[in-house]
Amino acid sequence: MPRTMIEPFRIKSVEPIRMTSSAERLALLEEAKLNVFKLRAEDVLLDWLTDSGTGAMSSAQWGAIMVGDESYAGARSFFRLQSVLRDITGMEHLVPTHQGRAAERVLFTAVCKRGDVVPNNCHFDTTRANLEFNGVEAVDLVIAEGLQPATLHPFKGNIDLARADELLTREGDRVPFGMITVTNNTGGGQPVSMANIRAYAALLKRHGKPLVMDVCRFAENAMFIKLREPGYTNTPVRAICQEMFSYADGCTMSAKKDGMVNIGGFIMLRDDRWLEAVRNMLILTEGFPTYGGLAGRDLEALAVGLEEGMDEAYLRYRLRTAEYLGEKLEAAGIGFVKPTGGHAVYLDAKTVLPEMPAAHYPAWALCNALYLEGGIRGVEIGSVMFGKRLDDGTETYHPMELVRLAFPRRMYTQSHFDFAAEVLVEVKAKARSIRGVRIAKQSKYLRHFTAEMEWA
Ligand SMILES: *Cc1c(COP(=O)(O)O)cnc(C)c1O
Repeated sequence: MPRTMIEPFRIKSVEPIRMTSSAERLALLEEAKLNVFKLRAEDVLLDWLTDSGTGAMSSAQWGAIMVGDESYAGARSFFRLQSVLRDITGMEHLVPTHQGRAAERVLFTAVCKRGDVVPNNCHFDTTRANLEFNGVEAVDLVIAEGLQPATLHPFKGNIDLARADELLTREGDRVPFGMITVTNNTGGGQPVSMANIRAYAALLKRHGKPLVMDVCRFAENAMFIKLREPGYTNTPVRAICQEMFSYADGCTMSAKKDGMVNIGGFIMLRDDRWLEAVRNMLILTEGFPTYGGLAGRDLEALAVGLEEGMDEAYLRYRLRTAEYLGEKLEAAGIGFVKPTGGHAVYLDAKTVLPEMPAAHYPAWALCNALYLEGGIRGVEIGSVMFGKRLDDGTETYHPMELVRLAFPRRMYTQSHFDFAAEVLVEVKAKARSIRGVRIAKQSKYLRHFTAEMEWA
């Protein structure tokens, strides 16, 4: 039996990608103020900026799009999606939104108040920004291993239960709910174990607090549980997902991840305690409760995509992709968050640029170097994303300087990954000539999207 794990699909529709020259890339990057977010996508060869909404839809999803019901109220497509989600999550109420951050904004605005505190393993950048915008403190309580890129642990996304207990005991009155993110995107796409979810939910319950899960990558998390957690080897991924959701009172989701669609998101709520407030907020800014910022056809594509996202052959290949690139990096002596996560590989910039000072943003510098060397676009997950310029002008820095290469679903084949590994080897060989950056211009929220940089 051949050992190579193949892409479990064939390609029916193709989109050309274009190689640029190295001189062109330098000019393009400088024109983009040394910020890859400002590049045109057609000037990128391998676009691994994000796995969010960038994947390929299946022929079944494109087919479903044609039967979308575009009725303003009570569309059939809403009820179809709601029935799929009721089955997976066991939760009653579907609140569709146009993407994940809209789900966050709608829920937080309806439920939180100024001065609240919300614990999470790690808040994703939009989650943190939406809480902070509402005057809520977002506290990250991932286990210590989750902040050590080189330490091996099967569930580095786990939340530190002792610290969560301490926070709930000390600040209980200020906590409207606890959150947990599966998989932990900001912490390296690392999974959370079922045991951890179960214990966290029980802890919250003891303190009388509901659990809201950020479930963008619930299917990938479930596959990790199947592969790594004792007792789940023979449990179908669908049943693992159902158990994960059984511990939560609500969830927010960006369907652009494991929903396998290009746009979409939702809130699911187990009971109606927050429903009215949430729906009122939804109507104000997203749309009527049965479409909430999406077209009927989007709801249909999502109903199909959620099922495809739980397919075990697909998930095995998906997790293997990141692992495969990880093996090549290991052989080349390039540090990365270990073990590899679900949707991405997170390069540890400090292992490539050990001497670069934090003030020159090493992960940002590595990200730029990948584009200059091979036309690859990743994203910095470091001090530009999570550091801050305080009102007194001092800078804060993030403990990890990572570059995330996130893989769009069902888009790239093995040779693309082989090519990327070769580019990384070249970049490492040239590390001494890689230049750092300074922030020339920045905004108050989510500054990495729009920051303008100059060479340090
Ligand atoms: C992508 C993502 C979000 C936000 O979703 P958008 O669809 O990009 O608005 C929130 N949380 C996590 C963990 C994510 O990965």
